[in-house]
Amino acid sequence: MQHIPALWHNPETHLARHLPDHPILYFSPRVLHQTAERFLSGFPGLVTYAVKANPHQAVLSNLVAAGVSAFDVASPGEMAAVRAASPTAVMHYNNPVRSEAEIQAGIDYAVSSWSVDELDELDKLADVPRSCEIAVRFALPVSGAAYDFGSKFGATPEKAVELLKQVEEMGWTPSLCFHPGTQCEDPHAWVKYIREAGQICKDAGVRIARLNVGGGFAANRDGVAPDLEQFFYAIADAVEESFGSDLPALICEPGRAMVSEAFTLAARIKGIRQEGEVVFLNDGIYGGLVDIRDMGLPGRVYVVAGDGIHRSAAAKPRVVFGPTCDSLDRLPDGLPLAQDTQVGDYVLFPGLGAYSSAMSTQFNGYGLSDVATVIELGGSGPDAR
Ligand SMILES: *Cc1c(COP(=O)(O)O)cnc(C)c1O
Repeated sequence: MQHIPALWHNPETHLARHLPDHPILYFSPRVLHQTAERFLSGFPGLVTYAVKANPHQAVLSNLVAAGVSAFDVASPGEMAAVRAASPTAVMHYNNPVRSEAEIQAGIDYAVSSWSVDELDELDKLADVPRSCEIAVRFALPVSGAAYDFGSKFGATPEKAVELLKQVEEMGWTPSLCFHPGTQCEDPHAWVKYIREAGQICKDAGVRIARLNVGGGFAANRDGVAPDLEQFFYAIADAVEESFGSDLPALICEPGRAMVSEAFTLAARIKGIRQEGEVVFLNDGIYGGLVDIRDMGLPGRVYVVAGDGIHRSAAAKPRVVFGPTCDSLDRLPDGLPLAQDTQVGDYVLFPGLGAYSSAMSTQFNGYGLSDVATVIELGGSGPDAR
């Protein structure tokens, strides 16, 4: 099993030593293990990891070491990444639109669970072994999620009833799955789906083996850790209420909530203009900060000078541009940075493990690809160093 040794105590010690002139992610395997443990001990079912949030080998191998044995994959590329981290990891292939070649790859990688949301897609799976599970993905109109996954994938409940009957008739193990969206801050998002799942099973007259409640668990955005257990209880309650004594086994597939806290992103300040109103960073929306464009400014950022000391003056809101020559490369306005911030300092963004390096491009010759391993990530408190 591959473990990257923790070489640095924290981001500050690494920054002060190396003064990196490119954006960098600091990874704490310990934090990742703690989060994995929280899901594994709290969620009343199988915990899988949604690889797309961060497919880095160090993430996958540390999750395997922490006891995560199953992975939600969407492509042959993700299957290869999981296989490289573990020869025995179970894979659930939950991208419901697949080419013939992708289906063959899934069969070759011994994918054990496949989702479908269309009869045409089910027909394409004829060669998938009957020992596999096929989970019918359904979707409801969205509420509570930061963006709408239901508009792309997922059968209507009526279509799901037909698909579920068909899956059973064709000899696979029938299951249901849904994905409520990302950064869902209201447990009710799951409750509504679970009730609908119960109704779909009744209408189809099919007993499902498992119910996959997707990802979407909220990450810490403002310094307040979300109460994951409250979500787990709400999910367990709703399943009991909707399925009574005929309980399906449960699966969850967190991406964001699993990996976000394990990484802090550091970007360097290249320029400051207009009396400090405007700041240019060496990372932006085409790099590791794209999720901030989509999700809004995080509540936790802090500035570290080249000697590793935190800037401590009162914060003032700034306009922040990324490094590319594209004027869209701009964060939502008002990022608060200490008044005494200077060119050459680093802006640290905690909680950026998800949808950062995974989505970073090389546009204009920039991008986020460097990862340094640290023992602890620290934070912005007065004793942080
Ligand atoms: C993206 C995705 C996830 C993970 O979502 P998060 O919001 O990162 O937890 C889980 N399941 C499916 C099917 C997905 O597409």
